[in-house]
Amino acid sequence: MPELPEVAAAVRRIRPTVRGRRIVAVEPLHAATRRALSPAARRRLAGRTIVDVARRGKYQLLVLDDGTQLVAHFRLDGDWVVQGSAAPLPPHARLVLRLDRDRSLVLTDPRALASVTCYLIPDIGPEADAADLTPDALLERLSGTRTAIKLALLDQRRLAGLGNIYAAEALWRAGIDPRTPAKDLTRPQAAHLLRGIRAALRDGERRAGRYRTGTRTAPFKVYDRAGAPCTRCGAEIATLTQGGRTTYWCPGCQRP
Ligand SMILES: [Zn+2]
Repeated sequence: MPELPEVAAAVRRIRPTVRGRRIVAVEPLHAATRRALSPAARRRLAGRTIVDVARRGKYQLLVLDDGTQLVAHFRLDGDWVVQGSAAPLPPHARLVLRLDRDRSLVLTDPRALASVTCYLIPDIGPEADAADLTPDALLERLSGTRTAIKLALLDQRRLAGLGNIYAAEALWRAGIDPRTPAKDLTRPQAAHLLRGIRAALRDGERRAGRYRTGTRTAPFKVYDRAGAPCTRCGAEIATLTQGGRTTYWCPGCQRP
């Protein structure tokens, strides 16, 4: 039975070959691996790059570039075989990861007891604070829906990381009415919005998350400032309800 030294050795053995390689296809060859890796999970895994191979106890972790982890446990007889893509599969192959540059990683297991679990990160959009996010990419993420821009910003499948506070702050900075249909956003507005998102998040980082609701002087431009004067145009900050949550905004200087 593989114990820690064997598992550690397996990790050391496959790491140089599989790290940095892209998964081209996932082929479960046994009922258990088919159950563990649904067709949807297999589609999600294909195209991802293996950024590291690690070990935790007797579990082996293939860490992918989107944060997803493929966790394998050898149980009694499991093992990895690394081979050329065209080579015939070894006996008792239970799972094949077809990799780029003509390699395959094969889980072999005579008794079919080895387990594979896939911990998928939910299908979310690009990070709101990604340095390489462009106005065009942001526009594309947001433009596919008629929903109000504020709600589109909260939709993590479109853009990951923004919540009620920073969506409102970003829209104020960009001078965009939160009710504007997302599909009506223009390219210049997307550029303003991206700058607004970055500025709002930078401000938040400076506060290092110390803000709590109900603080007497809200450190924000609009959030939690209903009735107070807008620092840009002097109009009263107002609220409206969107998706069951309160949106703070300035009717004076946020335009459709
Ligand atoms: Zn204003």
